[in-house]
Amino acid sequence: SAKAKGKNNFQFFSDDMALIASRKIALENDMRRAITNKEFVLYYQPQIQVETGNIIGMEALIRWKTDDGDVVSPGEFIPLAEETRLILPIGEWVLYTACEQAKKWHDTGHSHLKLAVNLSPLQFLHEDLMDVVKFTLHKTGFPASSLELEITEGVAVDDAEIAMARMRELREIGVRIAIDDFGTGYSSLNYLKQFPLNNLKIAQPFVQDMATNPSDKALVEAMVFIAHNLNMSVIAEGVETEEQLALLKDLGCDEIQGYLYSKPLSADQFTELIVKGRFSAKLVN
Ligand code: C2E
Ligand code: MG
Ligand code: MG
Ligand code: MG
Repeated sequence: SAKAKGKNNFQFFSDDMALIASRKIALENDMRRAITNKEFVLYYQPQIQVETGNIIGMEALIRWKTDDGDVVSPGEFIPLAEETRLILPIGEWVLYTACEQAKKWHDTGHSHLKLAVNLSPLQFLHEDLMDVVKFTLHKTGFPASSLELEITEGVAVDDAEIAMARMRELREIGVRIAIDDFGTGYSSLNYLKQFPLNNLKIAQPFVQDMATNPSDKALVEAMVFIAHNLNMSVIAEGVETEEQLALLKDLGCDEIQGYLYSKPLSADQFTELIVKGRFSAKLVN
């Protein structure tokens, strides 16, 4: 009967939910353990100035190397870390570790390098953020003016007042702010105008289709134009081909990041890259 069928469906649905929930709990427990076991590592992806081809900075990207040798990508655990608020201790670790590493690069003749660190919405809006940032800069000795924090559009739109106050506080101590994955979330040109942003990161999908789709190319051109007119620099994410690079150069894009130059590298690989001085376009991990 329909009733029995309905009941069965419900039963099936509820087993499924239970399975998802138990997997989540297992992952959450693994994540808690990962913090104490020091299973998180940072990789660094070079950011290249289009005009000169020089490395001008790097974005820190987290990886989870579990004790059985698996590497879990942030796309798989950051959302749950956010949901469980574990992103707060993880994010503090990321910021500290990245600043500590970047300070070493600064102290060995590469003081021009800018460090970009991703902040999750929860971290960015959390009341302790300023204390965490100030403590980290003080303890590591890394200069505020070389630190760029990346936030996503959603943060600014969901809680505009807190976001604005937070951005001002960060700018007051000299930290730079970038808007990540621009064009993929709820973008409001009005927010872009109001917020004290330094850098606009054009999201990968626009960059990847710009060589084949005139609409994407037009949008990239518009983003570069808007950014420059609002006194922001602009960086293209996910640049994979020479053709994309040539177009971006034509459109006046300031910086690029992508597999064309390099995948994210371990700290040792990144050191090797900057010590060699010359840039080998084929270097990948
Ligand atoms: P994101 O901040 O937009 O970082 C760029 C992502 O694009 C990275 O993925 C990077 O490896 C990838 N990528 C770079 N160049 C290319 C390319 O040419 N082609 C392609 N297909 N991909 C490219 P990843 O490392 O897997 O990170 C994914 C996302 O996870 C990041 O996106 C960021 O939102 C988040 N994430 C990573 N590390 C952290 C962190 O420490 N804290 C927080 N809150 N989020 C993080
Ligand atoms: Mg980012
Ligand atoms: Mg991005
Ligand atoms: Mg992102």
